[in-house]
Amino acid sequence: MPAPQAVDLLISARWVVPIRPANTVLEHYSLAITGNRITALLPTAEALDRFAPRQHIELANHALLPGLINMHGHAAMTLFRGLADDLPLMTWLQEHIWPAEARWVNDEFSEDGVTLAIAEMILGGTTFFSDMYFFPDATARVASKYQMRTQICFPVLDFPTNWARDASDYIHKGIKLHDDYRDSQYVFTAFGPHAPYTVSDGPMKEVVTLAAQLDIPVQIHLHETAFEVTEAEKATGKRPIRRLYELGLLTERTQCVHMTQVSKDDLALLQETGAHVVHCPESNLKLASGFCPVDQLQKGGVNVCIGTDGAASNNDLDLLGEVRTAALLAKAVSGNAAALNAFEALEMATINGAVALGLADCLGSLEPGKWADVIAIDLSGVETQPVYHPASQIVYATPAQRVTHSWIGGKLQLDNRRLVNIDIHAVREKAAQWAARIHRNEAQAD
Ligand SMILES: [Zn+2]
Repeated sequence: MPAPQAVDLLISARWVVPIRPANTVLEHYSLAITGNRITALLPTAEALDRFAPRQHIELANHALLPGLINMHGHAAMTLFRGLADDLPLMTWLQEHIWPAEARWVNDEFSEDGVTLAIAEMILGGTTFFSDMYFFPDATARVASKYQMRTQICFPVLDFPTNWARDASDYIHKGIKLHDDYRDSQYVFTAFGPHAPYTVSDGPMKEVVTLAAQLDIPVQIHLHETAFEVTEAEKATGKRPIRRLYELGLLTERTQCVHMTQVSKDDLALLQETGAHVVHCPESNLKLASGFCPVDQLQKGGVNVCIGTDGAASNNDLDLLGEVRTAALLAKAVSGNAAALNAFEALEMATINGAVALGLADCLGSLEPGKWADVIAIDLSGVETQPVYHPASQIVYATPAQRVTHSWIGGKLQLDNRRLVNIDIHAVREKAAQWAARIHRNEAQAD
């Protein structure tokens, strides 16, 4: 018999939901990891013969999954969580969120808000998050510091904000950010033209050209509400997605966030271009924005992934909870209880995100050669007894607090619910300090 092969880490678990192959649950399997990559996934009995691991972790009641991919959010907005709730969208934006952003958002705010968001996301099983917010350099810096993976969609807008003066300033700063993180395995950059109604044709065209040159994704809020679509139709005679298509913005690198309004023609444009949809069900519910027809999109061959959106409109960054909402909502919206089954719901939060990012070779499933971004979920809680179908239990019955372990690129991030790299007490204290400042200011303004 050949000598056992040295590996850095062997994780043996009761169940593994590898996502690829699809619709699969493996029992008593082990994941071998060397450096930052998966070496093998095989029955535990075989793994113990074949490998000599430097470290062996046994998880007797747990399921291993690929790390979750949160495809849309505004991480620093965690510091505005619960600041203004239960308001109509435009009141919420114009009277609360935009003034608060103008008053408070700077580099320091972003650093503290993003740290809070990363702590919450790791505790909930997310190992990759996409972000679109001002001060993307702060987001990139913090993600890099904690070795959390992120897609930074640097914003592009027609009007000035605390971060940039005009469209060309946004683009210039964004390209600099892209250059700074060109070789990073943690920080990936993308264009983030905010929405059709905040970016005019000139900057949109520039984004089209540069995104093609750099071969990086474009993420945009699109068809979030019926109001957005009817206003655009009144002003231009076109639905926003048609305008983007004509500008050349819709490609297989494009991630369309929300899409609660999908006509036959809209669906045809998504199908023709291979653009992806990022579904944010809880934000859409909370802001009464509408319902994304996930079942219809999936049956039409459109890749649909999932995001939480910012904590100010959710109000958490719990992607497992989001997956559950998506699975339930897809059934209600389509009138079909078979829509978006448990495996498909988990794919939205893993491999579909990886595909939209253009990183499916590295992320989204537990397959040899991919990055070792792995989470463990404890299924011994009373709420998941008995376990007939682990994938169903994870989607329909498991709270985020049952995520016990997380590795990003083979490095331990969450160790039996303890954050390895982030000082949670300091994070709490900073959040409380910001809340005190913001609250005092709001009270004075009243
Ligand atoms: Zn958003």
